[in-house]
Amino acid sequence: MGKIIQLDDHLSNKIAAGEVVERPASVVKELVENSIDAHSTRIEIELEEGGLSLIRIIDNGDGIEPEDCKLAFSRHATSKIKEEQDLFQIRTMGFRGEALPSIASVSHMEMSTGTGNGPGTTLVLVNGEVQSLSSTNARKGTDITVRHLFYNTPARLKHMKTINTELGNISDVINRLAMGHPEVSFRLRHNGRDILNTNGNGNVLNVIAAVYGMNVARNMVPVSAKSLDYEINGYIAKPEITRASRNYVSLFMNGRYIKNYHVQRAIQQAYHTLLPIGRHPVVSLSITMDPSIIDVNVHPSKLEARLSKEPELTGLIEEEVRNVLRSLRLIPEPVRIE
Ligand code: ADP
Ligand code: MG
Repeated sequence: MGKIIQLDDHLSNKIAAGEVVERPASVVKELVENSIDAHSTRIEIELEEGGLSLIRIIDNGDGIEPEDCKLAFSRHATSKIKEEQDLFQIRTMGFRGEALPSIASVSHMEMSTGTGNGPGTTLVLVNGEVQSLSSTNARKGTDITVRHLFYNTPARLKHMKTINTELGNISDVINRLAMGHPEVSFRLRHNGRDILNTNGNGNVLNVIAAVYGMNVARNMVPVSAKSLDYEINGYIAKPEITRASRNYVSLFMNGRYIKNYHVQRAIQQAYHTLLPIGRHPVVSLSITMDPSIIDVNVHPSKLEARLSKEPELTGLIEEEVRNVLRSLRLIPEPVRIE
């Protein structure tokens, strides 16, 4: 008699949630990325108690068709890819079709959504199960509320840090999403208090000012360069502006915040002796490339990526950063030995 069974969807969603939904910040990341994929130009994020009692995301994006609403909450359901070869041409933030079912399986969720054509839909889910589905008035955009996160996974709930730590993590996520998407206006509120506002005018320097303050923004200089496969654009801080942590270097690959040790090191090397030991620069760098040379299907959180031509990119960045710093007359020309 065999002992193996196929797990039902409900259980496999819970297992996936363990990976995709680590803490409130991961819920916020997934939901806001969905809003960005839906071409929103304005995204509002409201939180209570560090996101543990309430996370609400309101966007003005494409919305979801009434007939798709239930399906959006089932596992591996997505509008973003269709076939295997699409995996090598990812142009959206999402593609795994896991976020909505995973979040729903560990919270109380409500979604109101509309495409602007015809009536909208309101859906209520508890423990991943649809409790009610009704027709609502037509509004373009999506409004999702997540309450009582991890109420049914006590071990995960116990693992949560203080409200301030969870809020800090969320704030970090939103800051990066805003820097990666200066064309979108973000508003983050916590317990009724404004934390971040960006105007969505497309200028990343305005976002840097909103995130790091005017003093940092005033001391940033533009970088811009191109190679065969990559284009880089962004801002680097003058060497007098330094930080004690590497976290102030933000890299965006095709709009996605990515951690990449080699690129990070290339930037650090370009600053070289201009930075005191243990100090790091402030950098916001947008890197664009054909999606076929970046593989983001490395980890469910998509924080890492594999690049097929990484040395070309690190070389381009190191050279451009060094040139810009040198043009500030801060790096002496290398001594030429004939
Ligand atoms: P993925 O983003 O990987 O496709 P999700 O579970 O996050 O998977 O979302 C499932 C689907 O629900 C998406 O593919 C999209 O079609 C739809 N969706 C989710 N959030 C939104 C939103 N804010 N606006 C419009 N459509 C959305
Ligand atoms: Mg998604």
